[in-house]
Amino acid sequence: MSDRAPRLGDVIDDYCPRCRLLLNHDVTSLFEGEVAKVTCRTCHNAHDYRHAQVPPKRRSKRNDKKSLMEQVLASMPKPPEPPPAPPAPARKKRDLWAEVERIRAQKKG
Ligand SMILES: [Zn+2]
Repeated sequence: MSDRAPRLGDVIDDYCPRCRLLLNHDVTSLFEGEVAKVTCRTCHNAHDYRHAQVPPKRRSKRNDKKSLMEQVLASMPKPPEPPPAPPAPARKKRDLWAEVERIRAQKKG
């Protein structure tokens, strides 16, 4: 993307494994014109440049997050559930038959 070579001290976005966030980093090491190492400007943790790639989340953490979500949901009052599909009311059925009878009567007449 950038058409100028990175330099030491440049501020670039990268993923900090300690903060577990995409944050501003100082370029602290270069290798063949490419950023090799960076230092997180938030926690000052130096690590290899990760090309701003956020690693896939670990399954265990995902489960923790899900269980937390479930806990939150469980602690909340449940919304009233919609009633199950009601059986066809007898009155409506009768009305339908009455309608059929009325149409038949019209056809006859
Ligand atoms: Zn950090």
